[in-house]
Amino acid sequence: MDGRLVIVSNRLPQSITKNRDNTFGFSASSGGLVTGLKPFFNDERACLWIGWADIDPTALEPADKSELEAQLAKRKCAPVFLDADDAAGYYEGLSNSAIWPLFHSFPQIARFDDEDWQAYVRVNERFCEEIVRRAQPGDVFWIHDYHLMLVPQLLRKRLPGASIGFFLHIPFPSFETYRMVPWRNELLAGVLGADLIGFHTYDYARYFLESCTRILGVEEEQGTVRLQNRTATCDAFPMGIDYDDFAATANSDTVRSLAEDFRRDHGRTGCKLMLSVERLDYSKGIPDRLHAYDALLEQHPEWIGQVVLVLVTVPSREGVGSYQKLKKDIDMLVGLINGKYATPAWAPIDYYYRSVSHDMLCSMYRASDIMLVTPLRDGMNLVCKEYLAARDGEDGVLILSELAGASFELTDAVIVNPFNLQELVDAMQCALTMPKAEQGRRNAAMQKRLKRYTSQKWAAEFLDGLEQTHMQREDERAQKLDESAGGTLVDAYKTAGKRAILLDYDGTLVSFSNEPKDAAPDAELLALLKGLGSDPSTDVCVISGRDKTTLESWFGSVPVGLVAEHGALMYDRPARTWMQTAPFDDRWKRAVRPLMEAFTDRTPASSLEEKECSLVWHYRKCDDSLARRRAVEMKNALSRIAEEHDLAVMAGSKIVEVKPNGVDKGSAANLWFCDMSFDFILTIGDDRTDEDMFAAAPEEAWTVKVGCGPTKARFALGSPSEVRELLTALVSQAEDVSDAPSENVPRRQSVAQGAPHRQARAKNAPATEKTSIQGGTR
Ligand code: UDP
Repeated sequence: MDGRLVIVSNRLPQSITKNRDNTFGFSASSGGLVTGLKPFFNDERACLWIGWADIDPTALEPADKSELEAQLAKRKCAPVFLDADDAAGYYEGLSNSAIWPLFHSFPQIARFDDEDWQAYVRVNERFCEEIVRRAQPGDVFWIHDYHLMLVPQLLRKRLPGASIGFFLHIPFPSFETYRMVPWRNELLAGVLGADLIGFHTYDYARYFLESCTRILGVEEEQGTVRLQNRTATCDAFPMGIDYDDFAATANSDTVRSLAEDFRRDHGRTGCKLMLSVERLDYSKGIPDRLHAYDALLEQHPEWIGQVVLVLVTVPSREGVGSYQKLKKDIDMLVGLINGKYATPAWAPIDYYYRSVSHDMLCSMYRASDIMLVTPLRDGMNLVCKEYLAARDGEDGVLILSELAGASFELTDAVIVNPFNLQELVDAMQCALTMPKAEQGRRNAAMQKRLKRYTSQKWAAEFLDGLEQTHMQREDERAQKLDESAGGTLVDAYKTAGKRAILLDYDGTLVSFSNEPKDAAPDAELLALLKGLGSDPSTDVCVISGRDKTTLESWFGSVPVGLVAEHGALMYDRPARTWMQTAPFDDRWKRAVRPLMEAFTDRTPASSLEEKECSLVWHYRKCDDSLARRRAVEMKNALSRIAEEHDLAVMAGSKIVEVKPNGVDKGSAANLWFCDMSFDFILTIGDDRTDEDMFAAAPEEAWTVKVGCGPTKARFALGSPSEVRELLTALVSQAEDVSDAPSENVPRRQSVAQGAPHRQARAKNAPATEKTSIQGGTR
């Protein structure tokens, strides 16, 4: 990557303090993200880190602010200043009192407050402003975490072609939990502004995708969500730690001697140490762990006086009510247990309520026989990884909750369900009695993985993934039919003597709606088609998957050709009849119908549509994952019958369609394309069935895909409204032309009149036969 890497997170990696003499003090923060990005910030590449400078902006004179910005710039940082009210609503409010508890599956604690939401929106907009203000061409943006879920989309609107990544450091909840969020659509859409969306585990990615498909109704395939004019990909990137740093620190003389002191201070020789270190947070399961420890001493009194639980809780979010209550509960439980079992020479719990230095922490890891990491929910959990690194090549037992993201990687730990008290007790007993050889064997496997998959590797893999995703998008993307290409198209249309315009209907001329019948053409569209079709030099045809009755009722009085059922039937306007584009019969339906009906019955909200030449199973209104599974099963179940009857089974936009082989929009479109006299051809469509039409079109034709994704079309437009804009421009040209003398322009037959002639030509047309089209290059 050549451009700068711009990291955006809630906090800057530098804590700022204002000294009495008005100078600023800086101290570098640590943590997975900072260590992961260390190589980039050590001059490996041009970088900038944008984050909230947690310092009251009203206490800063303009000169102080500039000074602070200059000092931070030297550290490759740029501050976002927030006023106190916005900061409270955004940080303590929406981020930590709504999103954090809900995403950790504690809906009962979540507080949804509309004012907090407004502050969250404002702050996300502030971040976006700051990013845009500092952005340079070629920058790659990596947005972090639940505080900034709206930023990817806000940024996408301002910098549409930018490479944007997003990483969620906390769990993403299951659909049933996530759906409770009052602003669920906004948050999902916000994140989907990114090209690549990273989660710690594959489960979180799946939950996110399920919420996207069920709440936003978007389509997803293999982790990629298809949006109106772009795609977004989700994947799992488990975060690691700086393994070598923890291993080296734990082995240093200072830490070795600290660890010895620590062991000595904790009772008689041979007393086992169980360590528990975390922020004081309800997601960490501290009271449950204390209850289990109490039960262990009750069930196994032989451990009284022989084991100490070292409980380190780091103060966190002390301004939030639920955290204050938790602190009181833990204080009380520690008091109860110590009161119940303590002897003059021994106390069962050694309790610290403060943060500890890096050296002290490593010495605790080094000194402890057992590490207890039993959160009720944790996005990843780094403490368990740090413990294993600090005991590089040594024994020690890790007890790990299956509800921590890390449990997917550290499968050799003693894995527990933290809600099951007896399982916790048994795990402690197992750890206290586990032979050293087994401890070493289990740790070796986990240490090997952690050594390889470090925080640096995590960051590099995400950024590689982002680069690849972005490049792939650029490759796949048909050239946007922008003002300049659109202008060339209109000029080509203007100067052409004979023109053909083939238009798909749903998703091209109108947007999709849940009820197919609601997508009837509006007056504007009918006028547009009438305007185009009235020009004697232009053949216009609506070529759709809809049935003939619907098309005739909508467009019967509009001077355009009609092709129904994805190319099977063509309207003969003078005779007011429909004819088959190629001969086929429908005896196959007798074999296929019962099978498709059975699937319809088993899939609530799906429906079976019978058309003249096809059977279509619709699942737009169904639960997406169930319907997709059924769609695959249906295709498998149909494969034998399809072969016997020479049928094609196609998956379209939330449909499975069965029809005779060789009946498609490409074959139908060929009836036009084989007419050598056209010197302007335009085809527009949005889905897979339209790809046949693009493939059949002459090389020089103007082929336009609506939406994003791989396509054979040369150009792309974003939406049906952009298609209408283009057609409006053509109509105005047609009006200009029709104002001019037209003796030289022969009046053409209607599409239906010309159809039989084209049918004959199509069959005989050599494969290489191409019309000569002006304008546009491939
Ligand atoms: N930690 C710290 N100071 C302490 C105790 C722990 O900085 O006094 C660090 C610890 O080394 C670990 C991080 O805090 O890197 C906790 O990360 P984790 O993912 O385990 O939990 P989180 O607090 O992010 O939920």
